Amino acid sequence: MLLSSLNSFVPLFCLINLALPSLAAELLPAETRMQTALAQGDYFRVVEWYKDAAIHSEPTPVMRMAVGYAWLKLNHPEAAKTALGLLVPQTTPTLPGIPSLEQMLSQIQAIDQLLPPLYPLQGLPRIQVRTQGETPWENFILQRLPDFPLSAWRVLRKDPPPVQLVLIPDRAGFNALHRLFLEAEPKPNWKDGTGSNHLVLLCGENQNGESSSITPANALHEYGHAILHTAFGDHYSEIIPPWMDEGLAGLMGSDLDPALLSEAQKTVAAAPSPDFFPEALSSGLFYEAQPDWNYRISLLMVAELRRKKGPEVFRKILEQTKKSGNFRQGFQQSTEMAPEELYRLTLQRRSPQ
Ligand SMILES: [Zn+2]
Repeated sequence: MLLSSLNSFVPLFCLINLALPSLAAELLPAETRMQTALAQGDYFRVVEWYKDAAIHSEPTPVMRMAVGYAWLKLNHPEAAKTALGLLVPQTTPTLPGIPSLEQMLSQIQAIDQLLPPLYPLQGLPRIQVRTQGETPWENFILQRLPDFPLSAWRVLRKDPPPVQLVLIPDRAGFNALHRLFLEAEPKPNWKDGTGSNHLVLLCGENQNGESSSITPANALHEYGHAILHTAFGDHYSEIIPPWMDEGLAGLMGSDLDPALLSEAQKTVAAAPSPDFFPEALSSGLFYEAQPDWNYRISLLMVAELRRKKGPEVFRKILEQTKKSGNFRQGFQQSTEMAPEELYRLTLQRRSPQ
């Protein structure tokens, strides 16, 4: 009797405990919640709370400023413009830690001036393309557009979130847009494109002004990053380690093409592989020391994971990780092994061949 009443008491107690932080947050005014979330870099959450609050009452200027800034940080100037458009500069409050209304509107205007026109698309509702569509490079990628949502299915197993694909033929235009959207210079050793929240930016010229070597497979890879960031939400890059992020983007770019896997196996076999899981796979060092080996082993690990656990495993890992905010925990719950074990299995598969 005691045991059974304890049993029914414990889960209820746990439920209340889990619900408390969000309940407490729910009780705060929407303006306060949104500003706290902004300070923590929870931009997706700001957007969610804005939408919830806007159902019940007219958003205040503070809420509009907060969500406008969040949308800008999420690379969605169109949505930012809608939120900020009705505000009057002289009467709009300045929020601590975020730019003024005038600064945000001029950033949006600068982006608008550099963005190519929308490309008319039919039957692809979750992707928006901006391009002049004039060069062979742009047309090469445009022909492969139907593959984009399909590639997202390989990992998410559901319709992908909306993403804008921007094709910029010249390097100066690409660099300027990169700075405006991502507040950073493009990394010199990266392919001529990048994928982030809601956005894929691709360039037709490399850093030396020569024709970019970016292919539809590279475009799909960057689209993969954009889809993963946007579907996961806040703090994706801090929570998901580079090997998982690059492995999954590689999977989306290649569908684990056997030729590519065998090339990856050769690269990995040609270099000495540490017996133990290299820390660089889970840190910023991924891109610094022997990045080729890191990319290849990550792709092989993802291939091994799909072989062992089936195509649903990636969706499970992302969902469980999002729930707990902890990648190792999410990975173990979804795969019943640790990343180190997957690394060991991947090396084992490589060595007899
Ligand atoms: Zn990548």
